[in-house]
Order: sequence, then C-alpha cells, then structure tokens
Amino acid sequence: MKKISYLTDLTCSVCSKSFDPHQIQTYCHECNAPLLANYDLQAIRKKLDRDELFLRPKGMWRWTELLPVYQRENIVSLGEGDTPLLQLGNLGKRLGLPNLYLKDEGQNPTGSFKARGLSASVSKAKELGIGKIVMPSAGNAGGALAAYATRAELKSLIFMPKSTPLANIAECKITGARVELVEGLINEAGKYAQQAEDSEGWFNMSTFKEPYRVEGKKIMGYEIAESFAWRLPDVIIYPTGGGTGLVGMWKAFLELRALGWLESDVLPRMVTVQADGCAPIVKAFQDGRQTSELWENAHTIATGLCVPQSFADRLILRDIRASQGNAISVSDDEITTSRQRLAEQEGIFSCPEGAATLAGLEKLVKAGWIDQNETAILFNTGSGLKYIC
Ligand SMILES: *Cc1c(COP(=O)(O)O)cnc(C)c1O
Ligand SMILES: [Zn+2]
Repeated sequence: MKKISYLTDLTCSVCSKSFDPHQIQTYCHECNAPLLANYDLQAIRKKLDRDELFLRPKGMWRWTELLPVYQRENIVSLGEGDTPLLQLGNLGKRLGLPNLYLKDEGQNPTGSFKARGLSASVSKAKELGIGKIVMPSAGNAGGALAAYATRAELKSLIFMPKSTPLANIAECKITGARVELVEGLINEAGKYAQQAEDSEGWFNMSTFKEPYRVEGKKIMGYEIAESFAWRLPDVIIYPTGGGTGLVGMWKAFLELRALGWLESDVLPRMVTVQADGCAPIVKAFQDGRQTSELWENAHTIATGLCVPQSFADRLILRDIRASQGNAISVSDDEITTSRQRLAEQEGIFSCPEGAATLAGLEKLVKAGWIDQNETAILFNTGSGLKYIC
C-alpha cells in the first residue's frame, strides 16, 4: 500500500547513530538521549506544493508527508491541530506591541496541545503493533494518552503524582486508562513507569523516551509558518516543561527551510518560560551550561512546568541558543496576574502555563529585548477549564 509518510530514519540527537523506523524504537541508550525523525525533504520538495496543504481537510494530519505514520489507516485522530492564532489587540496596545498573537492550543481535543503529541505517538504505536502503553503524567499528557489509546483500542497505564489536578485524573479514568496515584513529583511517577516497562513489558511513552510525540508537536511550527504566509514571526514564547513543543517547533523551522518553503530565512528567537519554583532550563541557560541539573523541591501552580529535569534538556538548550533566544522564569503570582489579564482583556481563559508566557513577555518588553515592531507569539497550551478544581 502507498506510504503517506516520507520518514526515512531516526538519528540520535547526540551521536547521530541511525535507527530503523520500521522497528519499535525508544531512545539512544548509549548516549541516554532522544532520537529525532528524519524525512526525505528533497523528495517532498519536488512533489509537494506548500499551498496545496491548505486545501486538505483541516487538522494536524493534513501534513502527513511530514508525520511518521506510513499507512493512513493507522492514524488515530480526535480532530487535533489547526488551532486559532488570535491577535491580542487589547494587550498589544497596552504593551506597545501591535503585532502580538496567541496560539490557542486549549482548543485541541482533551483541552491541551498534548493531543498533538499523543495523536502522533499513539498512531505510530498502533502501526508498530504495540499493545499497551505506560506513561507518567502530572497533568495533561495522561488524559491525551488515555483518549487516543482507547480510540486505537490499546491499553494505557498512567502513573500520576497525588497532587495532580482532579480534572486530569478524572479524564484518564473516564476514557478507560488504569490510573495509579503515587507520592512525589513527575520524576517519581517516571520510576514507576520504568518498572512497569521492565517487569510487565509496557511500552514507555514518557516525554522524549520515544521519538514520535515531538513530531506531532512540531506541526504547531508548520501552522504558524502557514498562518504568516511563510514568513516566520520574530519571537516565540513557549512555556517549557519537557520541551517537546519548543524542540518540535524549532525542528519544524529547520525542515521548512530545507524544504524551501519559507519566504525569508530569518527564524524566530525561541524563548523558554518556566516558573520560579521549577526553572532548571533557565538556570542552565544563564549558567552557560549544556545540560540542566535536577531542580530540588520543585513547585508551581503551572503543573505542566513542574518538570525538575527534562530528558531533552540538552536539545532544549541547544535550540534556544541556536535561535538566539532566551530563557526566563516568572513567579506564581505573576502567572496569576497575567491569567487574569488574558481573561479580562482578551476573553481568553488560559491555563497557568499559557499565562506564564504573557508574564514572560512583559519582562522581555521591559528589558527591551523585544522591539515594538516585532511579531511575537504567545502559547496558551491548555484550556483554563481544566484547572478549576
Ligand atoms: C505539558 C504542558 C506544558 C509543557 O510542555 P512541553 O512541550 O513538554 O515543554 C505546558 N503547558 C501545558 C498546559 C502542558 O500540559
Ligand atoms: Zn547516541
């Protein structure tokens, strides 16, 4: 049957060793580092007209050539992607930034952009014949896994810290996942997931421990390019936990450049925003380091940012620097204030992580790091409705 994907192979993000995408793959065990997917971009460049993609049925899967699933029948979708890019006219005026936008990922299935990643990785798991999937989650990833796994008729097992918001636990249960609540943070939950993998053969879908979640997330970058008529914005401000969104979008921009689809080769400056109570990437960035250290006693109301150490820290830091970007942290109070502002001034009920990007933006404007005529994009990564209890 005809392959719809131009995926050629996977390579280790550190040693560049090649891995076969027709086999189940995880990460490079020699380097303890994520794998990244490669596509035959030259073939796509010859075959595909970038503007043709706009005419396809809406959603993430219209970019099939650049996603990892070979057979269309293996796609597991709930209608993710093609989220609105909203101009923030009121806030923009007050901040002196007429070209300020927000991509509202809260309008995805399961109420967060985790739907993109899990749609891609669960689809690929189905294609590779994987039957049961385990994951640690302190927030939205679990609900997305549960929903997509159930839709694919696969089993899911989710280890969640006891402190996980109720909505996130409930959505996993109702969509049929087995949920285990554990003491500690996401890192602790990750150890249980590892045990389930080792002793019972569950496939581990932890962030960056398999290569395909980031492929779903990268499509945010393609959508942005298309929205701005293939001229990328100057600054992207992204709330960073595990880093799939940031690494994915930067990957998309490099692919776009190789595809020859961009009107200008200037790529956006990527900004990581973290919370004061858990800012390992910000610290490593400021210290000029290539990897981060485990953040002790991590705490923040933005649960998606409560990741004491990302498995992809090296990649996140590399991409921020390659883009001439920045990394800043904001307090929970600043997040709360910004959340109020987004709701009262723009009618957007954001998640705390999304509000953190506005708080970060304000700091960058004050510091003069963003120029008045530059185009900046904030990300609301989830719906505020998931955080009311
Ligand atoms: C997971 C999550 C994040 C962090 O995303 P990464 O791409 O893993 O860095 C941010 N916001 C929300 C709402 C999330 O669920
Ligand atoms: Zn390696």
